[in-house]
Amino acid sequence: MPELSGRTQTFTDSVIRRMTRVSLQYGAVNLSQGFPDFEPPKELLTRLAEVSGEDFHQYSITWGAQNFREALAEKQSRLMGREIDPNSEIVVTCGSTEAMMAAMMTVANPGDKVIVFSPFYENYGADTILSGAVPIYVPLYPPEFNFHPDELEAAFRQRPKALILCNPSNPCGKVFTRDELLVIADMARRYDTFVITDEVYEHIVYEPNRHVYFASLPGMWERTISCSSLSKTYSITGWRLGYIIAPAPIVEVAKKVHDFLTVGAAAPLQEAAVTGLKFGDEYYRELQEKYTGKRNLFLKGLDDIGIVHTVPQGAYYVLLDISEFGFESDLEFCHVLARDVGVGAVPGSSFFRENVNHLIRLHFAKKDETLYEALNRLEGIRRKIPAR
Ligand code: GLN
Repeated sequence: MPELSGRTQTFTDSVIRRMTRVSLQYGAVNLSQGFPDFEPPKELLTRLAEVSGEDFHQYSITWGAQNFREALAEKQSRLMGREIDPNSEIVVTCGSTEAMMAAMMTVANPGDKVIVFSPFYENYGADTILSGAVPIYVPLYPPEFNFHPDELEAAFRQRPKALILCNPSNPCGKVFTRDELLVIADMARRYDTFVITDEVYEHIVYEPNRHVYFASLPGMWERTISCSSLSKTYSITGWRLGYIIAPAPIVEVAKKVHDFLTVGAAAPLQEAAVTGLKFGDEYYRELQEKYTGKRNLFLKGLDDIGIVHTVPQGAYYVLLDISEFGFESDLEFCHVLARDVGVGAVPGSSFFRENVNHLIRLHFAKKDETLYEALNRLEGIRRKIPAR
């Protein structure tokens, strides 16, 4: 067989997605890959059923159905504090996974440098490699996961093409403060760098934290490529609906990349999702309350068991410290956890550039009963996984 592409040989499959398969194999409560086990809003499901009998079964316009873009522009204009043009400033993609990849391919040439904070969502590693870019990692320091401005500036001095900003952040749950974002904005301006955001958890933020859209900061619209999705906001991760919002000259290029990558997101699903985009503020308040309840329930359960963990300010992940078990490999620990305790987790090493092996990530986007079941199982963790 001829040799396969060299570009793919420097990364593995996604460990997050792999741990879902491992969880299924052992019948574990799957708290690895972050997705809900509760239903999306009824209104979306009702509309989805209707749409099956309507005329939405062929391609939509490649960069997104007109009414989807209009509804999205209206919602995001309200939130981002600027008038977004549905025709020239939006590309609808297959999940934010495609949005991020298309954004990278839109701005980066092979060999260009891209700043990535560590820990980071594992797709960014593969995205940079596939687009030929070279990541420069800047550490976020626990427990607050703050960055050192001088370390960030040292990275900017290497003249990166872009910085990737996941806010609220997966996996550490950090919500960047306005002041922190202004520090990044100042450097992005001085070093003339794009900022690609991943804001899929924009509506999952815990009091008193506030989400600030990077594109809404003074002077930042021109250089920001905002990526997000409907997956988390409407509990429809399987619908694969994401988008890019950016200035028209950037979107013009992103539309081309997107067109040749996937042609377009599923037309019937875009149509059904318009219902969600038109929800009023009340929906987002309730979503926040729902996740706040889940966060409190789950963190209290972990405290009762006596496991040291992070306290997320946003998103729905928590990092657990597994040092006491004395495993050299967190990946092996996660296999043992799924097999012997019956809970699926993601090894922390999948997210860190640094050599970190003592953390695992669980998510709490699950029904309360699922979370209680996971906590019941975790109660026996010290008996079932003897320290080495
Ligand atoms: N963001 C989710 C996670 O980190 C997974 C998303 C995905 O698998 N595409 O678990």
